[in-house]
Amino acid sequence: MVAQEPAAILSEYIKYKSISGNEKPAALYLKNLCEQLGFYTTVFTNADTSYNFCASLVPLEKGLPSVLLINHIDVVPVDEQGVWQHKPFDGVISNDTIYGRGAIDMKGLAVMQLFALKQIKETIKTDSIKHNIIILFLSGEETGGINGAAKMIQPEILSRLKPIVVYGEGGGGLTNVIPGKKDELCFFVSNAEKKSLWLKLEAKVKSRGHSSVSSAKTADRILLKSIEKIDHAEEHIVIDKTAEETFKEIGKIMGGLKGFIVKHINFWVFKPLRRKIVRDNEAMKVLVTNSYQLTQIQNPKGPINQVAQSATAYYDCRLLPHKSEKPNTLKLLFRIIDRRIKITIEDESPTSEATPLDGNYDKVKAAILSEFPSAHVIPVLFPATTDNSYFRSVNIPAYGVLPFRLSEEMTESVHANNEKLPLSAISQGIKVYTKLLESYNP
Ligand SMILES: [Zn+2]
Repeated sequence: MVAQEPAAILSEYIKYKSISGNEKPAALYLKNLCEQLGFYTTVFTNADTSYNFCASLVPLEKGLPSVLLINHIDVVPVDEQGVWQHKPFDGVISNDTIYGRGAIDMKGLAVMQLFALKQIKETIKTDSIKHNIIILFLSGEETGGINGAAKMIQPEILSRLKPIVVYGEGGGGLTNVIPGKKDELCFFVSNAEKKSLWLKLEAKVKSRGHSSVSSAKTADRILLKSIEKIDHAEEHIVIDKTAEETFKEIGKIMGGLKGFIVKHINFWVFKPLRRKIVRDNEAMKVLVTNSYQLTQIQNPKGPINQVAQSATAYYDCRLLPHKSEKPNTLKLLFRIIDRRIKITIEDESPTSEATPLDGNYDKVKAAILSEFPSAHVIPVLFPATTDNSYFRSVNIPAYGVLPFRLSEEMTESVHANNEKLPLSAISQGIKVYTKLLESYNP
């Protein structure tokens, strides 16, 4: 018999070193646990590097439409040399806080989902329910979802899962986010995500040339000039429906004249102010602009007195979630950079439009407010990509939220050393998820 309490289970789960590509032992531990809790399990892929399975309230064979909670089994690698308050895979519980890689992202969330499902199982009669509740445990989220979510959106699997909505990771309950209203608790629920687009820019010249002859036409110079141009490309601001909703809620909380302007940011009268407001606030800027981050510049190795024949730059671009952004970005680059530079797409996340705020959003909002009555619930564009995007890419509504209060220290610990989750957050999360799930089978 394995442990039965949320904290003890999370501690056990953290001890499995499930760095992407090594999910299976951790997955088997969870699957066994799910079966002990009386859930039905279904394995979709069973490889060492891609183990994906689900636990459901009733068997998938019943063919019910489902509410799908997703989480990922994998975690990012650790910096062994770093300073650790507690070792990343020890699962230490100290001062009512649990420490370890994945405590928040996303092992803690998986445990909350499990215990919410356990509650539901104990309280509702399953013979007359309208919706199945399914928890989907996925591999490979941290490496782009190819070994996990990408496989689950194949028609033969989706037709078995039948999700009407997906809830995954995303925003969370934060304070200190609204200018002038630091104490207000804001729950961000993501209904859209930025698309990542990784580009390689390569400049090549024919002759190598000796470095004693100075030339403006070296591969490095060509590349650097173009980098300069990308840095100075005019920022284009898009205030779409998601951003409009976000600003409306934030403006309401801010109050005053500034709040009024933020709330009505799309009014034509405020257009001249828009650029300034957005520019002055990094957090707002992320929501309405694409970003092009230069991550590396490389030359092939060679002697110092020889001019390199080729130079390569890598860009991590994060695009707003509209189908037109990728072609527009490429068009912009072709227009401003040197014609001799070759652009290659190295990798990209799925293109997915925002989920329109529907009845499912109302349900998650109500669930959050039942546990945090004074909180503000705000829809938001998540600035990174998660598995949610795969489901949105096939038009399934998907929302991301961590259903508990996040301190700044907790937020900063994700993907860093000393990731931690207070035990109180676990019970908050279980309560919010339980309320949410109850609302689908009243
Ligand atoms: Zn994650």
